[in-house]
Parts: sequence; structure tokens; C-alpha cells
Amino acid sequence: MKIHVLHCGYIRVSDTVPFGNGIDLKNTGKQMLTPDKERITLPVCVYLAEHPKGLLLFDTGWCRDISPDGVYDEKAVRRVLPGHLAAFYHPWLPAGLAVHEQLAAMGIRPQDLEYVILSHLDPDHVAGLRHLQGAKHILLPEDEYFWSCRTVYKARQPRNLWIDYPIERRFYRGSPLGPNRWAIDLFEDESVQLVNVPGHTDGQAAAILRNGKRFVLLAADAAFSPRNWQEGITPGFGFAKKWQQKSLAWIAEMAADPGCAAVLCSHDPEVPPQTIDL
Ligand SMILES: [Zn+2]
Repeated sequence: MKIHVLHCGYIRVSDTVPFGNGIDLKNTGKQMLTPDKERITLPVCVYLAEHPKGLLLFDTGWCRDISPDGVYDEKAVRRVLPGHLAAFYHPWLPAGLAVHEQLAAMGIRPQDLEYVILSHLDPDHVAGLRHLQGAKHILLPEDEYFWSCRTVYKARQPRNLWIDYPIERRFYRGSPLGPNRWAIDLFEDESVQLVNVPGHTDGQAAAILRNGKRFVLLAADAAFSPRNWQEGITPGFGFAKKWQQKSLAWIAEMAADPGCAAVLCSHDPEVPPQTIDL
């Protein structure tokens, strides 16, 4: 199985987003108000897996509309995102890096995708959905969809970016995997498992892609960097610190497994675009 790591845009955020070690008003204030020059640049990773049962895309990155000329364009961002999220993300999408642009360069059309799998509903993960119409399945854990009713997620996850797309939902089931012991075994052969890693959101899924004894763990936003689990610093953006800690402890356990080929976090600047042979 080949796994392509794509950067489908970038964000400039407060360093409290990856390393704030607390979800509180102080961190939230910094995340909205830090001037651009004091922010850090993080990639927005999307993963394309060439699985024996078809092409699988994990998350979708930003949409072209936030960055029509490929540069940071605050007015364009505010046409896509409400003001508080525009202030949080400072996103941009260089020319050629939107998900459909990168797929086209690889000779792949949206209708060639067997599954588009959404880890969670934050806009940097779902905004690219508009470029993927025709994909055979769009999949989201039922828990992520259900809890989007919470006020906090209504503020974080603009519904117009995802509500009109034909998203299929699956329930997590009991599993030996994950801090919650909840996972979706996509093909019922353990080759692709979507594992509930709550904390950033309630329903967020990490993904384990497995070939025999070896596996790659796509951690989504359960961690922003290996520092989070190695040094015990929780991200300062999320929903529940205690669950973040449990999810990080599970990721640390997986990272220490001799079969682990890589743990990839969606916004880790140390993860460049690359292809992993699994
Ligand atoms: Zn994210």
C-alpha cells in the first residue's frame, strides 16, 4: 500500500494551538488575537492511500475559494469562514495544492476515489469537499456528526462546508484499539481502522492503515506533533483535556509498537509531502 502525504494548504496560528497545554479563555484569546508575524506556520495534511480495495482519501484540506490567487487573502477567507475562525486560522492555499488540483496532477478524478474519510468536521479538514463531488463514498463517524449539535462545534464547524454533501455515517464498535476502545473496521479485514481519539472533538477518528505487521497511524488532530505525547504537552485547542491526554497516551503506545512505520499528525511541520511504502 502506498500512502501519499499531501499538503493541501497552510495555517498561521498561535503556538498555543499545538502546545497550549490547556483549553481555556487565555489560550482561546491568544488564538484569535495573536498578530500574524508572531504566529507559526503549520501544514494542513491530506493523505491518499492506494489500497487494494481502491483509492482512499483522508480529509480534504482547504478549498480554492479561501485563496483564489494562492496567497493569504483575508477578504477571501472571510467569504468562506466566519470572522472568529478567519482570525483563528489565517489560512492559505498555494496554487496547485488544492486537493482536486493535486489529484488531477496524479491523473485521479474525484469519481476514482472509493472513500473520502473525514477525521472530523473542523473546516481545515472538510473545506475541500466541494472539490470532490463524484467520490463513491464520503464517510464520517456517526459520533462526530451527532455531536456537531453542541454549541462549541456549531462555532467551530461551519455547517455550510459539509451539511449538503452525501456524507455516510458509521457507528464505532467495540475494539481493542483506541483510548475509548472504539473503532470502525472499514473493510472488516483490519487493513483500515478508524479509531476514536476524543479530546480535540468528541467523535474524531485517527486511522490505522495496516499491511501485515506494519502500520501507519494517521493521528488527525489528536496530536499536532510528537512533542505532544513525548513531553506530555496537550494541544491548547480542543474540547476536553482529559480525553486529549488519554488519546495521547494511546498514540504513544502505538508509536512504541515495533510494527509502527510512522505516526503522522495533520499539522506537523516536520511531516513534508512524501510517499510512504507500507
Ligand atoms: Zn485541523
